[in-house]
Formats: sequence, structure tokens, C-alpha cells
Amino acid sequence: MPVRRLVPTQEAADLLDLTRQLARDELAPRAAAAEAAEEFPRDVFRTLGRAGLLGLPYAEELGGGGQPYEVYLQVLEEIAAAWASVGVGVSVHGLSCFGLATRGTPAQQEWLPEMLGGEQLGAYCLSEPHAGSDPAAMRTRAVRDGGVGGKGAYVLTGEKAWTTHGGHADFYKVMARTSDDGARGISCFLVPADSEGLSADTAERKMGLTGSTTATMRFEGVRVDADPCLGEEGEGLSIALAGLDAGRLGIAAVATGLAQGALDDAVAYAQERETFGKPIIEHQGLGFLLADMAAAVETARATYLSAARLRDADQPYGQQASIAKLVATDNAMKVTTDAVQVLGGYGYTRDFPVERYMREAKVMQIFEGTNQIQRLVISRALARGGAPTTTVTP
Ligand SMILES: Cc1cc2nc3c(=O)[nH]c(=O)nc-3n(C[C@H](O)[C@H](O)[C@H](O)COP(=O)(O)OP(=O)(O)OC[C@H]3O[C@@H](n4cnc5c(N)ncnc54)[C@H](O)[C@@H]3O)c2cc1C
Repeated sequence: MPVRRLVPTQEAADLLDLTRQLARDELAPRAAAAEAAEEFPRDVFRTLGRAGLLGLPYAEELGGGGQPYEVYLQVLEEIAAAWASVGVGVSVHGLSCFGLATRGTPAQQEWLPEMLGGEQLGAYCLSEPHAGSDPAAMRTRAVRDGGVGGKGAYVLTGEKAWTTHGGHADFYKVMARTSDDGARGISCFLVPADSEGLSADTAERKMGLTGSTTATMRFEGVRVDADPCLGEEGEGLSIALAGLDAGRLGIAAVATGLAQGALDDAVAYAQERETFGKPIIEHQGLGFLLADMAAAVETARATYLSAARLRDADQPYGQQASIAKLVATDNAMKVTTDAVQVLGGYGYTRDFPVERYMREAKVMQIFEGTNQIQRLVISRALARGGAPTTTVTP
């Protein structure tokens, strides 16, 4: 079922048309086979980059598309509706470019056009085996090794768990400890994939998103020079968390696309499948299940768009990003589970994609901050009194 969208400009409408066409022709036909074979589709990111879709929310002078976040997220949703692993990859790639765009020096930002154009694929290394929800407990160290000021070289030692694109990326945005001063002792580095001492473990064997590689990255005395530190020493965690606010909106859009895909499949099946002499969609019990699924998808979309519009208006949006991630991913879990129900026994087989959608939805409640952590962020904001009531114009 085509989604009815309100977008701010004709250019945005054209971008969405282009995305739907790419999703229909390049992504959807390959998704099931690549997921079954656990193959990472590196070439797809070049295709999306060359079409200008990877750098949409970045400024044009940095090589991006200069689009508002509300447009970028709807493009991301369309990509994820065709292939969730690619949607997640686009979001993570964007996250890996974020610190460079916001805190990079002009010299560092010269790398951006290749990154945003899809020639260079990024990864984001925050989590460690013992430190996921609590990243300030990280142990990976970066020790300065010569050089002065922003031109210093560093040697990184430690391991980063769960790295999306681990082993496939061309560069890694890495948060590492430069002092023992807790959350203030963490800095942010850009590490090229071919750095000596950097290696990827065998990829994790996951429940879903099997077309997206996830691996532990090992840093064994990895020396990075050429000005690798983004922002100042000690600003790494705040750079990482600012990126995560935007990243959470990305995951909310991806989860909404996944749920929309499941709803579309369920509705199509329910129109065809007959029991007791009529299509199952005409049985009220099942029609109401589909109605609740449609309401959950629309709610998720409205919630992430509301947060995106605050971001586009330069308003604080961290609490709303957490709400969007929580609502969209919990709704995606429910919608994909109910899609399996709509297909009955067939839904439980690998002959139909809905069982895969259900497996893919689960991880969205876990990464980019588990949904317990989102509740923590929201409840802390409530305890502080929440944001003041304001009205802003676009
Ligand atoms: C497929 C996949 C891809 C990923 N990609 C990346 C990536 O690219 N880069 C990256 O850095 N990380 C990545 N991650 C890591 C992900 O962000 C972490 O798994 C996540 O933050 C949770 O951390 P953890 O697994 O260590 O769980 P833990 O932090 O050990 O949490 C375990 C459980 O305890 C709960 N919990 C923890 N603390 C609290 C609390 N204070 N209150 C209530 N409940 C709590 C959690 O919600 C969870 O249910 C990825 C993970 C997966 C599975």
C-alpha cells in the first residue's frame, strides 16, 4: 500500500520517488537471498551514495544533500521497507560521519565527500564486550604518541564489540579512553581500516539482520597519525551521544519501514486468503488486527517526524528522539509479530518474508540504546521537569 507523505518541497518528493524506484529495482529483489546467504551487500551502498542518498542531511558544502532530517528519515524508511539491513547500514554510516561534520577541522572534513558519496563506508565503535548500555565503563585506550595540538598521533589498544560493518568498513569512528576521568576521559578518533594492528573477529551469528555484518574489532597497538582526534580530547562521549540522538531517529525510521513492509504483506495476503467463504480481511477479528497494525505504523511515523522537525528547527530533541525510537521499535516488534499471525501457518515458514521481519524487528529494541535505556532518558527528562512549552516556526 503506497504511503501518503507530506514533504516540504518538490525536490524532496523527487528524492522519495527516486528512492522508491531504487528500492523496488535494486533492493527488494535481492533482500531475501542475501539475508539467507548472510551476504553483506557492499555494492548497494555505492549505488545509494552515487544517487546522493547517503549524505542527504549533511550540508552541501560538505558533499551532502542539504535536506532536512524529516526528508532524510522518510527516504531511510523507504529503503528499510525494502531491505532492513541496508536501512540499518545507511543509518550507521550516517552516524559514523556525524562527528566529522559537526566537530571535524576543515582538513578532516576533506574526507567527507568520499564518505557521503558511498566510496568509503563507515562504522561506529562505541560498545565493548562489558560496556554496552554504560559506555563510560569502556576500557579501550588511546595514548598520545608524539605530535602537538590537533596534529598529535595516538596508539589505540582494546576491543570494540558489535561493530556494524566490522571488517567491511573503510573507516571506523572509535571512542577510546584518553584519561581515567570517567565520562570526561573519552575521546573520538577516526581510524582507517588499513591501519596496522586493526582486525575484525569472525562475524556474530545473529537471529536476524543477517545481511548486515556485526563483528568485534580488535585494536592491538593501532597507531593513527594525520590528525585523528575529532573535537578536543575528552569530548568523545558527548560527540558519540549527540550522534546517537540523530541515530535513534534513524533506527525509528528503519523500524517504521520494516513495520510498513510487514503490514503491506499482511494486507495483501488477507485480501487473497479465504476461510469460511470469504477473504480473511473481511472477518472482523482479523480486520481489526490489521487496523491496529496500520495505526501502530502511522503512530511510529508521526512520532519520528515530530522529533525530526524539532531537530530541523534547531530545537532540543533528545527526549523526543528516545520516544520515537521506543515507540517505533516496540510498534515494529508488535506489527511484525502480528503479520506472522495474519499469515497463519504460512507465516511461520521461511517461504514468506514475515518471519524474517519479526526476527529483524527484535534487534531494533536492543541497539542504539536498549528500550530500557530510552525509558531511562525519557524519565530523567521528566524528572528534570521536561522541556519548557515553546512554539517555534519553521
Ligand atoms: C546487531 C547489533 C548491532 C550493533 N551495532 C553496534 C554498532 O555499530 N556500534 C556500537 O557501538 N554498538 C553496536 N551494538 C551494540 C548495542 O548498542 C548494545 O548491544 C546495546 O547498547 C546493549 O548493550 P549490551 O548488549 O552490552 O547489554 P547490557 O548493557 O549488558 O544490558 C543488558 C540488559 O540490561 C538492561 N539494562 C542495562 N542497564 C540498565 C538500566 N540502567 N536500567 C534498566 N535496564 C538496564 C538492558 O536494557 C538490557 O536489557 C550493536 C548490537 C547489535 C545486537
